[in-house]
Amino acid sequence: MRNKKLAVLPVAALILIAGVTISTAETDNVRVIIKVDEKFDESVILANGGKVLARGKIFPIIVAELPDKAVEKLAKAKGVVRVEKDAIVEVFKGKPPSPPGKNKDKSTQPPQEIPWGIDRINATEAWIISNGSANGVIEVAVIDTGIDRDHPDLENNLAWGVSVLNGRISTKPNAYQDRNGHGTHVAGIVAAINNEIGVVGVAPAVEIYAIKALGNDGSGWVSDIILGIEQALLGPDGVLDKDGDGVIAGDPEDDAAEVISMSFGSSSDVTSLHEAIIEAYSYGVVLVAASGNEGASTPSYPAAYEEVIAVGATNMSDAVPSWSNRGVELSAPGVDILSTYPDDSYATLSGTSMACPHVSGVAALIQAAYYNKYGTILPVGSFSDASNSTVRGILHITAEDLGNEGYDAEYGYGIVRADLALKEIS
Ligand code: CA
Ligand code: CA
Ligand code: CA
Ligand code: CA
Ligand code: CA
Ligand code: CA
Repeated sequence: MRNKKLAVLPVAALILIAGVTISTAETDNVRVIIKVDEKFDESVILANGGKVLARGKIFPIIVAELPDKAVEKLAKAKGVVRVEKDAIVEVFKGKPPSPPGKNKDKSTQPPQEIPWGIDRINATEAWIISNGSANGVIEVAVIDTGIDRDHPDLENNLAWGVSVLNGRISTKPNAYQDRNGHGTHVAGIVAAINNEIGVVGVAPAVEIYAIKALGNDGSGWVSDIILGIEQALLGPDGVLDKDGDGVIAGDPEDDAAEVISMSFGSSSDVTSLHEAIIEAYSYGVVLVAASGNEGASTPSYPAAYEEVIAVGATNMSDAVPSWSNRGVELSAPGVDILSTYPDDSYATLSGTSMACPHVSGVAALIQAAYYNKYGTILPVGSFSDASNSTVRGILHITAEDLGNEGYDAEYGYGIVRADLALKEIS
């Protein structure tokens, strides 16, 4: 468990602390991520007074807690490639402008309205080509605080849920229920259903995997994010490559997520997380992350990694708010965003956390449209791509250019346009 003292500190204080200290006050134990090879013998952790918290299923890592003084010794043990300290990650949420609604009378739902962000990126026009439905092949994994699993505007798109909190993997519905609100809000921006009630998401028929890696206070461990990425790759069947053909994303024989949406960040660059992201990227998974709300000139991690699409926020006037971190790849609506919220309700939130899922949704629409047409998916592509033969290339060339002409640090390539992106495929 995290230090209880840390958990009750105000958010601002937590940000200062994140990445600086992770030792618990009660003991001198530290939480570490150990990269190992086949020569490693786990008993060395026990022998050094530590305990194993989790083992990677794809990535060769072990998450452990051990006395501070044993870290150096363990680093020299046989089969240990690297030992690094675990770090804290947090969701990027601004203060809600209005208190989130509690829906006491669950039989009443508000009539559906199109949130301004969905309208701004012209998602409704994109649905003529694809609404994200692709024969059960295209899924978006939302790594966050869980999901309100029986929300009437989400439930039918929730294909699977899992919790990896504190290294414990559980698919029990109660384990991945959202008790914060952030995860439900992000999931609704991606995939709230196009029906009579509530709101509608960017890809209203795409399947969602709700992966709970952040606790009820919206913070968690980098090690749990790594385990969450593993779950997104393994999918509900728990196997990476069932038919052994080397194809993971876009394979109808497998159930890996094609898009991983990450509305959180850390000031710490943890190599094990970067390696997990590189591996997911190599399997053809589009990774999207919020740039962060610190008003910094560069995105936080994992958005800062080159394999990840860093997304900044814009408001209703297409301006980038001061708190949205610069140096992004793309921009999307992230101020006063209405979406789903726990208790079958709806709430308006602001943050790069809200911008990120707009891009995740468009990436899913691209892959769904492409899959429906060609029976395969597009390669992810890189930051500098400017062709229509990769997902990132399509996002770049179809984004609405704002600010200085061409790419700029404030808007990146511009505000995503779902309609124009899908026209590249049709
Ligand atoms: Ca899939
Ligand atoms: Ca509910
Ligand atoms: Ca709806
Ligand atoms: Ca699988
Ligand atoms: Ca396969
Ligand atoms: Ca520009």
